Amino acid sequence: MIKFENVTKTYEGGFQAVKSVNFEIKEGELLVLIGPSGSGKSTTMKMINRIIPHTSGTVSIDDKDIKSYKASELRRNIGYVIQQIGLFPHYTIEKNIAIVPQLKGWDEKDIQPRVKELLELVGLDPKIHATRYPKELSGGQQQRVGIARALASNPDIILMDEPFSALDPITREQLQAELLTLHKKLKKTIVFVTHDMDEALKMGDRIAIMKDGKLLQLDTPEKLLHEP
Ligand code: ADP
Ligand code: ADP
Repeated sequence: MIKFENVTKTYEGGFQAVKSVNFEIKEGELLVLIGPSGSGKSTTMKMINRIIPHTSGTVSIDDKDIKSYKASELRRNIGYVIQQIGLFPHYTIEKNIAIVPQLKGWDEKDIQPRVKELLELVGLDPKIHATRYPKELSGGQQQRVGIARALASNPDIILMDEPFSALDPITREQLQAELLTLHKKLKKTIVFVTHDMDEALKMGDRIAIMKDGKLLQLDTPEKLLHEP
């Protein structure tokens, strides 16, 4: 479980991007953070893996203050998928995925089968795609690799920052459906940032609505749709 208690982020220069936010993300839940551009979604999400350190309040994971985890520990135990994919261009697909378990110190003999399994999990063919370079794959395929990489070290939590925004509508719908299937199967806790309400309603077990750094509402899609 991830818990935010009175969490505030003030950037250098004094701008308050997140204002005393309180919420909990349940284990195995897919929580969508939605709101207009600049509302603080991305900042909120990045405070979970401490890519962005919070200014005040408490962020905890499984009742443990994230300040007591090492930064590398958080990064390796929390998968992270971004819009611009972030694959290393000079590494093959295989190597791009293997890097995470390698960083975690996995035994080399366990990594190869894990890469194969992950590629299959996200709908890629290990025989065809493993030895290619990122630029030799389509945007949708690259984003699949991004998801595989985020899953590689078997984290309990996955953060996704507008993961499908750069994709064409058809590929996007396909990946949304696939992610939901994967979520049902793996039951990971997922925090998913988007500015698209259709996507939020489709994907979220619950949806947190942000505006001007504040959390306005947090509820299930059903409840949000039936609000007057
Ligand atoms: P969102 O993800 O909802 O688009 P962000 O969390 O990225 O919003 O940004 C929230 C606000 O914080 C924005 O006004 C943005 O300009 C500001 N901001 C983001 N990063 C920084 C930074 N490094 N320094 C100063 N202000 C920032
Ligand atoms: P170090 O602690 O040695 O600095 P990091 O844990 O920060 O290493 O990770 C190094 C690189 O590996 C990062 O630039 C990041 O892109 C990638 N990486 C690490 N963990 C993950 C993850 N869970 N998902 C995706 N990429 C990751």
